[in-house]
Amino acid sequence: MDEKPILSIVVPVYNEEENVRLLFEKIRVVCETMGETYEVIFVDDGSRDGTFTVLSELSKQFIQLVVIRFEKNAGQTAAMAAGFEFARGQRIVSMDGDLQNDPNDIPKLLGRLDEGYDLVCGWRKERQDKFLTRRVPSIVANWIIGKVTGVPIHDNGCSLKAYRASVIKQVPLYGEMHRFIPAMSTVVGARIAEIVVTHHPRRFGQSKYGLGRIWRVALDIVAFKFIVSVFAPLSRTQKPSPWQRLSNVLFKPTQRIFRAAALFSFPFFVLGRVLFGSTKIAALSCFGLAIILLVLGWVTENKIRRAKQELTELDTLARFFIFRYNRRPIRFFGPIGVLLFVLGGILSIAPLYSFFFKVFNIAEIPNLSPVLITSGILVFCFGLFGELIAFANAQRVKDYTVEIFLNMNK
Ligand code: UDP
Ligand code: MG
Repeated sequence: MDEKPILSIVVPVYNEEENVRLLFEKIRVVCETMGETYEVIFVDDGSRDGTFTVLSELSKQFIQLVVIRFEKNAGQTAAMAAGFEFARGQRIVSMDGDLQNDPNDIPKLLGRLDEGYDLVCGWRKERQDKFLTRRVPSIVANWIIGKVTGVPIHDNGCSLKAYRASVIKQVPLYGEMHRFIPAMSTVVGARIAEIVVTHHPRRFGQSKYGLGRIWRVALDIVAFKFIVSVFAPLSRTQKPSPWQRLSNVLFKPTQRIFRAAALFSFPFFVLGRVLFGSTKIAALSCFGLAIILLVLGWVTENKIRRAKQELTELDTLARFFIFRYNRRPIRFFGPIGVLLFVLGGILSIAPLYSFFFKVFNIAEIPNLSPVLITSGILVFCFGLFGELIAFANAQRVKDYTVEIFLNMNK
């Protein structure tokens, strides 16, 4: 298949052995009807069932089928990113591999794309999933994502989307950010449209996500906001407003991070004053924190600059923030920071404080709760800066994942 296909369909699959053959057939029928040259890229995300066997058999029969195989499960985002990277078409469509999305919607999506959009999102208006555990959290999440990112899409989680290849290939995807593609693509100035698509209940296999996703999506929203506040004004394709232009001249990205750091330290002063009861200690702790945050901001800024200079190797710190455990990217600003903060908050209530020490039968530690709160916020900030590093390295995160796991059968 030397000729460049016009349309690339990207399908990440993890343990979908009963679905892939049926899905490929459906996609094939739709594409043949449209009369376009096309390729279907199945990204086998380290399936442990017969998915890869079925795909290899199919690929012997059909030249349009491309299979990318990860040796280990690296997650849906990595699988989609690898598919986008290898796609040869000028237009790309992504969809789930579990037959919940309907290939018959592809021509509609492409029609919208050809009207001049860079990204057309599917909206599963009549979603065929459990109401309480799936649809309600999704409605709430989409509303919040719309408010926070300023991109009011009804259904960010719908994988059925069409993209202009030149645009989606620029969008940095890392972690589990495939759920934030619409918002992320505004960073490169994408024009976005939305259409209602069909959705079917899952017939074979199981959903790969549980309720744990709610927590991770919540953290992703925070991360996204932070990333965009630092990176968005830097985007080249987006036309900056006069105010943004002025602020770009006045404040370099470094200074923006520093300003944020300084802002962070003010609440610490108030907090220190209230909790320690002494202005001197409060001022000291605030000063110390500002210094730590400034150093963090400085380190991050350097890492971002180096990432942009196209270094080939990921350095240790970047690797640290991209670290995955069991397909989930580890969130350094998440659980530990929040836990410390909440624990400190609870302990700051006096009767609880004594109760805590009585229960554990230990001598009281002075100022434990402010120390916990402070370290909680610090851990949180540390992770947020790491998130910036991960984002700046996203292009390489992709290479990093793919290089290690990739194995193509063609
Ligand atoms: N998927 C994947 N890697 C993963 C988890 C999921 O490639 O680690 C694929 C999965 O096979 C499916 C799509 O991503 O094709 C969406 O997953 P799922 O249907 O489980 O999500 P849901 O529809 O329940 O949100
Ligand atoms: Mg599904």
